[in-house]
This record gives sequence, C-alpha cells and structure tokens, in this order.
Amino acid sequence: MSWETVIGLEIHVQLSTKSKLFSGGSTEFGAESNTHVDLIDMGLPGVLPVANKEAFYKAIRFGLATGANINQTSSFDRKNYFYPDLPKGYQITQMAQPIVEKGSIKIAVDDYEKEINITRAHLEEDAGKSIHDMFEGETGVDLNRAGTPLLEIVSEPEISSAKEAVAYFKAIRQLVTFLDICDGNMAQGSMRCDVNVSIKKSGDKELGTRAELKNINSFKFIEKAINFEIDRQIRLIENGECVVQETRLYDSEKNETRSMRSKEEANDYRYFPCPDLLPVIISDKELKEIKENLPELPEEKEMRYIQEIGLEESEAKIISSSKAMANMFEEASSKTNDAKLIAKWLVGDVSALLNKDNIEIDESNLSAENFGILIERISDNTISGKIAKSVLEEIWENGSNVDEIIKTKGLIQIQDESLLEEIASKVIDANPDQVATYKSGKDKLFGFFVGQVMKETQGKANPKSVNLILKELLDNLN
Ligand code: ADP
Ligand code: MG
Repeated sequence: MSWETVIGLEIHVQLSTKSKLFSGGSTEFGAESNTHVDLIDMGLPGVLPVANKEAFYKAIRFGLATGANINQTSSFDRKNYFYPDLPKGYQITQMAQPIVEKGSIKIAVDDYEKEINITRAHLEEDAGKSIHDMFEGETGVDLNRAGTPLLEIVSEPEISSAKEAVAYFKAIRQLVTFLDICDGNMAQGSMRCDVNVSIKKSGDKELGTRAELKNINSFKFIEKAINFEIDRQIRLIENGECVVQETRLYDSEKNETRSMRSKEEANDYRYFPCPDLLPVIISDKELKEIKENLPELPEEKEMRYIQEIGLEESEAKIISSSKAMANMFEEASSKTNDAKLIAKWLVGDVSALLNKDNIEIDESNLSAENFGILIERISDNTISGKIAKSVLEEIWENGSNVDEIIKTKGLIQIQDESLLEEIASKVIDANPDQVATYKSGKDKLFGFFVGQVMKETQGKANPKSVNLILKELLDNLN
C-alpha cells in the first residue's frame, strides 16, 4: 500500500513590538521573572485592554508580502480555557475576523519549487510561562511573556513531506525577518510551531485523521518529529487500528511523539467576541502607507545584486538568503568600492567559517565595518589574499581590529620590487637541481619557486609581483 503524507503548520511568530498587544508592558526577552507585567497582563478585574497599532501594521506587512487579503475591519474574540499561566482565564485572539486571509508563499525543496497557501494569519496574545524546574515540588509562573503579540500563521494542509515542512518554516522565517516584524530567534522562542500530520491512501480525496504535534522549535526536530509520526500512523493503519485525533508531544531525547491530550474542538473553547475591544479599522490611507514602505524582499535584493552590482547569480542567492547576510553585505559594501570582492569573501571564506561554527553571521565576531576594511586592505594591496585569510581567522576568534592586527603582526605586503628580486634570486641560487629540471621543460615547477619566495617572506610578498619577477629571472637564465 502506498501512502501520502498531509501536513498543515500553525506557526506562532512573536512580533517585535516594544510593548505588548494590549498593555504598555515591555516585551523584552530575558528579564527577571514577573518584572514586565502590567495590570492588564495580570488580568486584574476592572482594567481594559487597548490594541497595539504597531502589531496590526506588522501583521499587515506580512499579509501584503504574501499577496493576502487584508481585512480592514478585524475583531477580537475570547478563547476560554484555564491554565495557571493565563490569569484572565481566556486568551484574546482573532477567530471570526482575522486581520490576514488567503495568502501564499513559495518554498524551495531540493530540485523543485512549490506554492503553499496560507489560510489565515491572526493576531493573538501569548500566555505566560510555567516554570517546573526552579522550585522543588512546586511550579512557578512567570508572566513576563503574557500579552506578547503573536501572529499565528495557519497553512492549508498542502505540505507533503517533512522536508517541505522544514522548507516552509524556513521560508516564513526568512520573510518575517526581512519584513522586520520578528527577530526569528528560535532559541528564544520567537518562532514556534504546531505541526498537524495525517496520512491517506495515495490518490484518496478525503484527508485522514490528524495528530497535532505541539511546540517544536528547531528545523531538525520538525523533520524528525514528522518522520516519526508518519511511520507511527502507517504502522497503526496497516495493523488495522485507527489514528486518534489528538495532541502529541515530541520528545527530542527519545525521538518519539507521545499522546498529551485528546484534541479539543473549537466549541470546547466557548469562543465569543471580546466585549472589551472594538473592531479595529484600518483606513485606506494607512494601508497605502504600509504598502509603500514595505522593505526590500529577498527576491528583489537578489535581482538588484545581479543587475546593479554585477554579482554572480549563485552569490546573489546566498547573500540574499538571510537578513543578517544581506545586512553584512550592504553595510560592508558601503565601506569599500569593491562590492564584488566583498561578495566573493562572504560566500567563500566567511561562509566556510559560519558552517564550521554553525552560527549566523550576526552571531559572529565579524562586524561589517571590520569586514569592509579587511576587503579594502586586499584591494589596495596592503595585504595579500592569503594573509587576509589569517587576519579573518583572527577576527573570527576575538573580533580585533583589522588594521591593528596588520600593524602588530607586521603583515603589510612587500611591494618593494628590488627586495623581492633579491629574495627570488636567492631562491634560484639555492635550488640548482629544480632550476635545471624547470629549464628542461617541466613548467609545473614554477609553482615551487613561487612557494619558496612566499615562504621566505612569510606570505607577505605580493604574489603578482613574485610571479613576474621569477618569470623574468628564470627565463633569462641560460
Ligand atoms: P485547529 O485550530 O483545531 O488546530 P484547524 O482546522 O484550524 O484546526 O487546522 C489547523 C491546521 O491543521 C491547519 O494548518 C490545517 O492545514 C491543518 N490540518 C487540518 N486538517 C488536517 C489533516 N487532515 N491533516 C493534516 N493537517 C491538517
Ligand atoms: Mg491547532
């Protein structure tokens, strides 16, 4: 029997507003527990929420960038449930009239592209956090996160494999960071996702019963959790059992999913329009302004890099693939005239170091300023490319200043032709056997002489000059 996988993702994106969705409380991450909590976030009786416009503007940017409908009138509902980290006893969300509906986003998987439809994206407040490992036998509640604005992005069940799900998540992350509406920091929980998985017989129209995998926050675990879940469901059905609609937790240590609770239905939540908040109306003027101020998106950047700066397509693709990389390229380029050389180093040596350390460029010690100067020192012949590599490695370790490294280590390139000629002659005199072999027609040996001169000068000779000088000296020997 062959099976098809059906996946739909609900991604919670934490919007990077200064204050919360309905209060003036700060959204700053990492503060001491319960210090960013407003009366409204505590759910005290008698206080009234006020909607944060900036959160709407950010949600609208997402809608516009995905070609979605923007509901210029949208409203809030209460989703009722009890949990200690939700002091009001309900979450304010958008059920009936979400701000964004019917968009789509392109994903790229291995050798094909696919468009995934987005059902809706709505605003809602985050809950606080229950802390289970701080007090022996007790659970703490931290309300710092309570009321933080989330944009919940719901996909259609059109994703067909774990790989596509990861590609979709990456595409959303790329988009929201370029739009500057979320920092994309997964380790801090700025993006979290629930994965709905079902299987059906190949060709069947009707969807199978789904399981919902909760709160997975890394690319690796999305892929692993889905693949585990697909296998589990196929085994069940092939053994004549049924998949139960339920919420399951992914355990990354055991690489398995476990039942958490049976799936609640919408009517369990007793949704009703929030009487504390009026519908929010976005004027034509506001919408137009947001449209006109949309930041440049990855595909536009890629085109501009190719057409205006003259980068190779492959370079432009890599550099425009992440906001941090594009920022580095654009800032460093503004410090030098050689944007192409910046690009070459970014996709070459810098990317190699990033891969080795498995970090993003904004987590490294390399600043755009320092990087720009490094490239400038290569173009103005202060240092050779080879030396630049070692300078880059040193910056990578400790972030020191390029010119300081060059000065204290005495790395300035030797330009003095008579000095280079002297060294080259010495090398030739010291290696009569190699000279004889070279003269007998073994041209490949030329590299040996270049290598010796570079060694003598600790890599500081200008390779171009060394080549010219050696050529002339060797050609003029009898
Ligand atoms: P709920 O809000 O109860 O979680 P929704 O109907 O809003 O349910 O769907 C949530 C997500 O589940 C959506 O991303 C949707 O695409 C996905 N989904 C719905 N049905 C299935 C199914 N049978 N298999 C896989 N995913 C599904
Ligand atoms: Mg759900």
